[in-house]
Amino acid sequence: MLESLRLLQPTTVPEASAALDELGESAKIYAGGAELLLLMRHGLLRTEFLIDVKKIARLHNLAWDGEALRIGSCVTHRTLETAPIILEHAPTFAYAESQVANVRVRNQGTLGGNLCFNDPHSDPATVLLVHNASVRIGSQTGERQLSLEDFFLDMYATALETNELLVEVQIPPLPAGMKSAYLRLHRFQRPTLGVAVAVKMDKEIIEETRIAIGCVGPRAQRLREIEAKIRGATLGDAEKIVAEQKNYFRELLRPVDDLLGSSEYKLYMTCVLLARALESAIQGSGNGAR
Ligand SMILES: Cc1cc2nc3c(=O)[nH]c(=O)nc-3n(C[C@H](O)[C@H](O)[C@H](O)COP(=O)(O)OP(=O)(O)OC[C@H]3O[C@@H](n4cnc5c(N)ncnc54)[C@H](O)[C@@H]3O)c2cc1C
Repeated sequence: MLESLRLLQPTTVPEASAALDELGESAKIYAGGAELLLLMRHGLLRTEFLIDVKKIARLHNLAWDGEALRIGSCVTHRTLETAPIILEHAPTFAYAESQVANVRVRNQGTLGGNLCFNDPHSDPATVLLVHNASVRIGSQTGERQLSLEDFFLDMYATALETNELLVEVQIPPLPAGMKSAYLRLHRFQRPTLGVAVAVKMDKEIIEETRIAIGCVGPRAQRLREIEAKIRGATLGDAEKIVAEQKNYFRELLRPVDDLLGSSEYKLYMTCVLLARALESAIQGSGNGAR
């Protein structure tokens, strides 16, 4: 059972940040509550105050500004899975959102909550990295912008300071001619492995590519070294290169054994799924095909 709590409902970002400053460790930001309430029910987290940020109108924004999608941190997974502007400008991201848990969690959980909690088993995080997404962070003293890659520090750790909130996620579309795919492997609801790929071909040759892997290690990551290695290769050569990269994956991704699979299994499946995702994106049969 949950202990009694005080609920604060600020209507602006500076107000929420001021509450964080004032209450310190005794307060937690509360968005959908999908993670927070679960932890509290299991006695893994105690807090006296919940700062419900859902009354802050701008955190519900969902817009295309001509250059990027701008998504307020309180927009739910379900909205992102179905919103026409997401399907138009970032279809693979919409697909990844549709894979989150089940419709109950997708209706409750927000994109901001997912990214701020930074559970390694996140679907949206992996796809957002191939979009070069960035985040807008706010406090009572101002706002700052950070690439999503720099936002993720480690398992359950982000670059947010104690008085800061995630305000908005900005998602540029993929460059013209790039096709994408997201593949995931799951044993339970949360993914064991997520692979996001975007590829631009020049006839049979990979001209440009972006690759991100999630869930294997403590945080989702771009694989820039592999991206450079397969640039200029055919699909067949790229698949061979990927198959030889187990040691690189081990060092970069720092796979962990957990209930979702052993680290060896995750490394093996990373190579398999990455080759499949490349093929799927190149053939235009991926979930980013339009
Ligand atoms: C059963 C289950 C299955 C799941 N399966 C998947 C899955 O398959 N794929 C996947 O990607 N995810 C999965 N999840 C995770 C789910 O996506 C997240 O639980 C959800 O998105 C969290 O959002 P929330 O709004 O409920 O966050 P909350 O629980 O409200 O908050 C989570 C954390 O983020 C902080 N926070 C929230 N918003 C902000 C903000 N704006 N600024 C600063 N800090 C903030 C909170 O203080 C808290 O620490 C699953 C969760 C559950 C419970």
